Amino acid sequence: MPPTTWELVHHAPADDAAHEATLFTTSNGYLATRGTHPEETAGLPGLTIAGLFTDDAHGFRTLVTAGHWLALDLRAGRRLLSPRGRDVMDYSRTFDLQRGLVRRCLLWTPQPGLVLRVETEHFCSLADRRCAAQQYCVTCLAGTTDLRLRATVASAVLTRGAILVDAMGARRADHGVLLTSRTRTSEYQLALHATLQATGCNLGPPRCEAAQVSWAALARLKPGQSLRIEKLITAATSRDCTAAEVAARTNRRGYTALRRAHVAAWAGLWQDAAIELDGPADDARALHFVTAQLLAHAPRDDDRVSLGAKPLCPEGYRGHVFWDTDLFMTPALLLLRPELGRRLTNYRWETLAGAQANAAAHGYRGAWYPWESADDGREVTPRFWLRADGRRMPITCWKYEIHATCAAAYAVWEDYLATGDMAWLATKGLDVLFETARFWISRSTWVPTHNRFEIHDVCGPDECHERVNNSAYINTLASWTLARALSVLSTLRRDHPREHLDACKRLAVTPKELALMRRVARRMYTPRASRTGWIRQFDGFEELRCVDPQTALERFPRLAQSARVQVVKQADVLMLLYLLRGRYSRRDLLTNWDYYVPRTQHNSSLSAGTHAALAAQLGLPDTALRYFREAARVDLENRRGDSGRGLHGAALGGTLCAVLCGFGGVRLEDGYLVVEPFLPTGWQRLRIPFQYRGRQLLLDLAPTGFTLALRAAGPPLTVASFGKRQRLTARRPVRGRLLAPLSGR
Ligand code: BGC
Repeated sequence: MPPTTWELVHHAPADDAAHEATLFTTSNGYLATRGTHPEETAGLPGLTIAGLFTDDAHGFRTLVTAGHWLALDLRAGRRLLSPRGRDVMDYSRTFDLQRGLVRRCLLWTPQPGLVLRVETEHFCSLADRRCAAQQYCVTCLAGTTDLRLRATVASAVLTRGAILVDAMGARRADHGVLLTSRTRTSEYQLALHATLQATGCNLGPPRCEAAQVSWAALARLKPGQSLRIEKLITAATSRDCTAAEVAARTNRRGYTALRRAHVAAWAGLWQDAAIELDGPADDARALHFVTAQLLAHAPRDDDRVSLGAKPLCPEGYRGHVFWDTDLFMTPALLLLRPELGRRLTNYRWETLAGAQANAAAHGYRGAWYPWESADDGREVTPRFWLRADGRRMPITCWKYEIHATCAAAYAVWEDYLATGDMAWLATKGLDVLFETARFWISRSTWVPTHNRFEIHDVCGPDECHERVNNSAYINTLASWTLARALSVLSTLRRDHPREHLDACKRLAVTPKELALMRRVARRMYTPRASRTGWIRQFDGFEELRCVDPQTALERFPRLAQSARVQVVKQADVLMLLYLLRGRYSRRDLLTNWDYYVPRTQHNSSLSAGTHAALAAQLGLPDTALRYFREAARVDLENRRGDSGRGLHGAALGGTLCAVLCGFGGVRLEDGYLVVEPFLPTGWQRLRIPFQYRGRQLLLDLAPTGFTLALRAAGPPLTVASFGKRQRLTARRPVRGRLLAPLSGR
C-alpha cells in the first residue's frame, strides 16, 4: 500500500544517520528524542529536556543531551542485528505524523532457514509529557533460534561532543531503576526512571552502573513464537519540580495505556489544526510533516522555555532561541493553536528582566532582547568560534543584529491581534512593547542636520552587511514599536482606566517620556520608497557593486568582501513588507520584489517561506510553489546539508506562514480579519482550519473561489477581502474570489 500523506516512510536506513535521526525526532514539547535506531550509536542519539541548559567548557550556554533511552541490541546465536546489515531482507520505517509514533518493521535472516520479524515502536507521550515509551517485538517466522537482548538506558551521553551532565548513579527504585545525574554548571538534578517489562523471554535483573542501567533477556523462539520488550522512562528535573518530586515521579502505567492516551492527545491536537491539501502528495506530506513537528516541539507546560532555532536539539545553535521563533513559529502557532503561540509570547515576557539587563549593561534603557536567548533572556551568543587550526574567531553579530528586539514586540502584538486578549495585552504584552520602545529611544541618535532620529551601526536580517546605518527594516519596525506602545497605552486610558493606571505605575511612565516617545516615533527616519519606488535597505546600499548573488558566494566567501556588494542573504526589505503587509500596496511589493529578488542568495532557511508568502500575495503561482517547496522540504531533503544537527524551526513555521498568510491570504488587523487567498500551480483545494479571537474558522480554497465559515457557534466577525467588507456569522459564511495571477509573469 502506498504511504498516505500522513506518513513519512523510509525503505532503507538513510546513509546520513544524523539526518534520519532529525527527521524521525519525536517530541511532546518537554521531551524530545532523536530518531536513531535502537541498535546503532550513529546519528547523535539522545533525549533532550526543555529548558535544561548548562555552560560548556568555554562557558557557552548549551541545552544538554540528558540521556539515551532507546538503545537495544539483539543477537540471534552469534549474529548481531544491524538495520543496515545485508541479512535484513525487508525494511520499512514509518513516522506516523498523525499519532506521533515512529514504527519500524524488518525481516531479518541471520542464518539460512531462520527468519525473524523485528517490529519496534516508540513515542514521547503527548498526554503524559514526562514519559516516553518503546516497544520491541521479535517474532520467529521460520527456523528455531536462541535470542539474546540487551536493553540500555544511559544518563550521561555526549552533547556537541562533550559530557555536560555528570552521572550520579543508578539504583533500583520502585518497580524500576532510577538514574540520577547533574548538569555541569547549572547543577540541575535530573532523574530518569526506567522500567522494563518483557514477555516471551527470561528477563534478568537490571545491571546498574554509574551512568547506565541495562537488562539482559534470553529466549528460544520457534516458528510462530514471539517476545516483547516494553521500556518506559519518566524524566524529571529540579528545574521544574522539587527534589522530592524528582525521585517520586515514576510511571506506573503500561505501554498500552500510555500509548492509548498519547494517540488520543494527538487526535485532539489535530482536530482543529490539520491543514488539508488536494494536490501533489509530496506537498501534502511535507505540509503534514512541518505542522506535526512544529506542534510536537511547542512547549506546553512552562513559559520559561521557548522553541529554539533548532527546536530541542543542542547540536545546532545549542538550543538557543532566535528571532526565528517570534516571526516564523509564533505567528503560525497563534493561528493554528493560540494556546501554544501564547506560551512563546509569554517566554518573551518571562525573560524581560534578562533583556533589561542586556540593555543596562550597554548603557541603554528598556529591554534589548538578545540575538540568542536561553534560560533567562540574557545574551548567550557564543563569543567566538574555533577554526580548524584552533584559532578563536570572535563572534560579534549580537551587538548589531538588534532586530531580535523588533521581533519580540511584533510577536506580542500579533498575539493580541489573534486572541483579542486585552487583559493580557494590558499587562504582559504592554510590558514587552513599552520596554522595547524604551530601548529604541535610547538606541537612536538625533541628527539635527536632517531633523530626524536615526539608528546606526546595526545589522538587519541580511547578514551580509554587518555594521550599517539606517536599516529600513530596523528603523521602520522600531518606529512601529513606539507607535504600538503608545496606542496600547492610549486605548487603555480611554477604555480601561484602572488597567491604565496600573500600567503607568508598573512601568513608571511619565508625561515627559511619552512626549519623547511620540517625537521619536514621528521623527524616526524610515527610508521610504525613493523616486524609483524601491526601499533602500540601508544607507549607501545602491552604491555597492551589483553582482550575481549565487556566484557571489564563491567569489566573496568572506563577509568582509560580500559586504561590499549588493548581495542579500535572506529576505530583509521584503521581510519588512511581509510583516507590515497591510501598509504596502501590491505595486510597492512588486517594485521591491523585482529589485531585491535578483540580489538575494536565500542562504538561510528563513528566506524561502517569506518569499513563498510574498509570491502568493503578488499572484505568482509557479514562483510561490517553488519557494513553498524549498521551505517545506528543507529538512525532508536536507537541502541545506545541516539537518543532521536539528530541524530548522523557522522553516517549519515559515512554511506554515506561507500557507496561512500567503496562500490563505490571512492578515490580522485590529478588530477585523483580512482574507485574500491565492492557489499556487497544481493545488486543487486547500482547507485551512484556524482560530481567531476565540472562534474556530475554516478557510476553504478552490480555483473558483474561497469560503470562510465559522466551524462552531461564535460571535459574528468582520472580514475584509479585496476591499470589500462582509459580516461572517455562524449561519452565513463569507465567499469571495481568489487573487488573480499577475498577468505577464
Ligand atoms: C540566519 C539568521 C537566523 C539563524 C538561526 C542564520 O543563518 O541568517 O537569520 O536567525 O540562522 O536560524
